[in-house]
Amino acid sequence: MRKCLVCEEGNLIKVEDITLEISGYVFIAKGERCDHCREEFPYEQETARIISIAQKLGVWPEPLKLYRHLSKSGGGLVFRIPSDLERQLNLDENTEIAITKIGNKIVIEAEAAAA
Ligand SMILES: [Zn+2]
Repeated sequence: MRKCLVCEEGNLIKVEDITLEISGYVFIAKGERCDHCREEFPYEQETARIISIAQKLGVWPEPLKLYRHLSKSGGGLVFRIPSDLERQLNLDENTEIAITKIGNKIVIEAEAAAA
């Protein structure tokens, strides 16, 4: 059994009732909960799934708001994906990206990787 990373005393128990609140919407995620300090660790793929649902609802979890500068390359502008998102969403150079303009916002969606 895995030890909790926060208190280093409790064991992580599999649960299916972690609640995540994003902009007033409540999502239920699977993950693990410490039996000592009660800290909850939703699985990464659950977090990714919830974020994609949240995006469809037009909300975005605030801590994931990222600020990046564009860089110039070959006469065009280049946007670099932060490496933590790259890992979370399993992105690589073969990932197809859909770019949608919504008002003055740009939504970048990774298409599901071809198996
Ligand atoms: Zn703990």
